[in-house]
Amino acid sequence: VAKRLEKFKTTIFTQMSMLAIKHGAINLGQGFPNFDGPEFVKEAAIEAIKSGKNQYARGYGVPDLNSAIVARFQKDTGLVVDPEKEVTVTSGCTEAIAATMLGLINPGDEVILFAPFYDSYEATLSMAGANVKCITLRPPDFSVPLDELKSTISKNTRAILINTPHNPTGKMFTREELNTIASLCIENDVLVFTDEVYDKLAFEMDHISMASLPGMYSRTVTMNSLGKTFSLTGWKIGWAIAPPHLTWGVRQAHSFLTFATSTPMQYAAAVALRAPESYYEELKRDYSAKKAILVDGLKAVGFKVYPSSGTYFVVVDHTPFGLENDVAFCEYLIKEVGVVAIPTSVFYLNPEEGKNLVRFTFCKDEGTLRSAVERMKEKL
Ligand code: GLN
Repeated sequence: VAKRLEKFKTTIFTQMSMLAIKHGAINLGQGFPNFDGPEFVKEAAIEAIKSGKNQYARGYGVPDLNSAIVARFQKDTGLVVDPEKEVTVTSGCTEAIAATMLGLINPGDEVILFAPFYDSYEATLSMAGANVKCITLRPPDFSVPLDELKSTISKNTRAILINTPHNPTGKMFTREELNTIASLCIENDVLVFTDEVYDKLAFEMDHISMASLPGMYSRTVTMNSLGKTFSLTGWKIGWAIAPPHLTWGVRQAHSFLTFATSTPMQYAAAVALRAPESYYEELKRDYSAKKAILVDGLKAVGFKVYPSSGTYFVVVDHTPFGLENDVAFCEYLIKEVGVVAIPTSVFYLNPEEGKNLVRFTFCKDEGTLRSAVERMKEKL
């Protein structure tokens, strides 16, 4: 394997889902729903395939989807953007992340991440040759240590990566945090790359897009996807919204990574994004009920549960159960209890910082969540 990827192992999500199958454990690890996306979206995909929308799409997205994306973005943020010049459709947000890093970061540029961070950020930054700087968000509230951020920004800082609502902690960046980060970025001429794939799963507060803050649109790449909002994680439809000068970099990388994304699924994605507001309200109601089952259950089992404001994840402290670290705890949980969680140490530059924390997901039907809680009550 190339040197730039030597330090990375099989992703933790793949590892844990394989173990779930091997041990017949209930999978509250990898974040994918065990229920299907809405009928009207699946019908739209079938219709697109049957009506011959099956050849290469336009590289940066089928026009209908680019339009649906800007309409949704305008509803969410109030920003009016050009579907032709400022939107790039990608194969999931994961490709948007890779295209952003590869298209906008030069070797040696510093990029600041907040740990715990989603694993692909560090790997794609490594592919781009970036110099990764990391700031740790700590429990109980995982708030941004703003002074540390100030002292970490240097003349070599090219970008800060924000993920809100935040995987794995469920933290949502507050307006105050975003405002401070924004003014630091403007002062120091730094870009923001923001991963907002959980924006529709915001339970305790309103989601705020960095791009909507004064002066920020021109220096922000906003990334999102269809998977979480429409329970279709396997469709891999994502996008990046950015002003034309940044979109150019993203598109150049995208052109040579995948060139274009699945055509019929893009047509169906456009139909999905035009769902009435009631769809989003119902999604949130359903997930609130699931969240309550899992959070109450984990508390009853004896975990210290950290508050999660958004995403379909919740992070707990496993130390009441006396296992050595997060990896040992997750192994025990799979083999002896029959439940899969994600150890968080892989989401830190220094794994020690995550050793007390594991992540559970509640994107499963209520029966599955209840069974997992029952198993833990009995066997932990
Ligand atoms: N985003 C999903 C999670 O955090 C995992 C996606 C993947 O398996 N790469 O669980």
